[in-house]
Amino acid sequence: MQTLPVSIGRNLVIGGGHPLAVQTMCNTHTSDVEATLAQCRRMAAAGADVIRITVPSQKEVPAIRDIRRTLLDEGIEVPIVADIHFSSETALAVAPFVDKVRINPGNFHPDHEKARAQFARLIEVCKEHGTAIRIGLNHGSLGRYITDLYGNTPLAMAKAAMEWVGLCVEQDFRQVVISLKSSNTLVMVEAYRLLAGMLEEAGTPFPLHVGVTEAGNGDSGRIKSCVGIWSLLSEGIGDTVRVSLTEDPVHEIPVGRYLADRLARKTASSMTAVRLEGRKAIATYRAPSRGKLLLDVACDFGKRLLDRELDDISLEGCYLDDAGLETDIAESGLGAYLSDELMQACRRRFYKPEYIACPGCGRTMYNLESAFERVKTATSHLSGMVIAVMGCIVNGPGEMADADWGYVGEGGGKVSIYKGKDPVLRHVSEDQAVDRLLELIAADATTRR
Ligand code: SF4
Repeated sequence: MQTLPVSIGRNLVIGGGHPLAVQTMCNTHTSDVEATLAQCRRMAAAGADVIRITVPSQKEVPAIRDIRRTLLDEGIEVPIVADIHFSSETALAVAPFVDKVRINPGNFHPDHEKARAQFARLIEVCKEHGTAIRIGLNHGSLGRYITDLYGNTPLAMAKAAMEWVGLCVEQDFRQVVISLKSSNTLVMVEAYRLLAGMLEEAGTPFPLHVGVTEAGNGDSGRIKSCVGIWSLLSEGIGDTVRVSLTEDPVHEIPVGRYLADRLARKTASSMTAVRLEGRKAIATYRAPSRGKLLLDVACDFGKRLLDRELDDISLEGCYLDDAGLETDIAESGLGAYLSDELMQACRRRFYKPEYIACPGCGRTMYNLESAFERVKTATSHLSGMVIAVMGCIVNGPGEMADADWGYVGEGGGKVSIYKGKDPVLRHVSEDQAVDRLLELIAADATTRR
């Protein structure tokens, strides 16, 4: 899709045929200016084109202003985006001091007309200061007004975005980027496809920020992200990306850069041959590393599995292991493992639990990475179950979408456990919370028998 160019900060243009911009987000507490600055410097050195920082309340506005100013003084001109949830007043307060504001206008106010009025005010402030806006909607947190009309569907996501786009156009505001994220690759891809069509039809092709939200970590997080993002990029949809991982956010950048380089044809897949046996693809690779093989496989076959052009894949050939030794993909077991991971990322076959885990941000209330690892270890036998591990009680429950169980940090060493959208245990100490979760799951299974 040929999109409109949107300037973000001094040197970056998103959309309008410019190179794909790679984003990431700080997970430090924003009020800890030194820690956030240190993380921003590492991100910039790793090649981030845009850095997002959460602003939970007006109290953090001076901190993000100082962080941006210090980075600019150091010659680091990576645009800084303020991430806002719920509070239109915080968005208004921070807009003059950052390059872009990411908001979900639907959650500004439960009364939809009031939310519209607050968004209109924000547009005025952003116009005055040359600040761009990302309208960032997530599948798990659509407003009632839209789900009552369209259900909790990809169509509802696209329709909701179009309403806010309409308000921007009415006010002649064009510095707009849009995202429609979901942790479910099918939902996410369909939502962006619908939105791209609607934007083109309306003659307002604003650039799209593409990502799979709460993708988790490790191989699964990378594969899920590549499946969703590359499916769209390969169709010409997407101008900026964030690969969202529950890890050190600097790790997100090489995956984003791989996608950007692949789109720009600066890197190619290591696949050397492919043949079909019915609707199963058998692919032969010669990969320079395990990491490259994983990303190549996810991009080569994700879209075709999502779209049901293929029903399965099998991997052959070799890759160089960490010691540089040529290793057979099938004999080492890596081929079968990557096929299982890819089939699950495409929601075609579930061989293990489906994990939803937020990447964490300045709102995170506990050690998210270690909590996620503990939950994964304890629940690995629960194939097919959807388990969410979220960093904060403010946004986590709303963003868990279709999770069967949720494990949510409250702060102060406590965790809340959710069954679907309902909290079933609150204020559980972190050292007991995984055991309580397992007991609740077991009791629920007994009741169902
Ligand atoms: S759910 Fe996670 S990423 Fe989202 S605001 Fe809370 S801590 Fe941050």
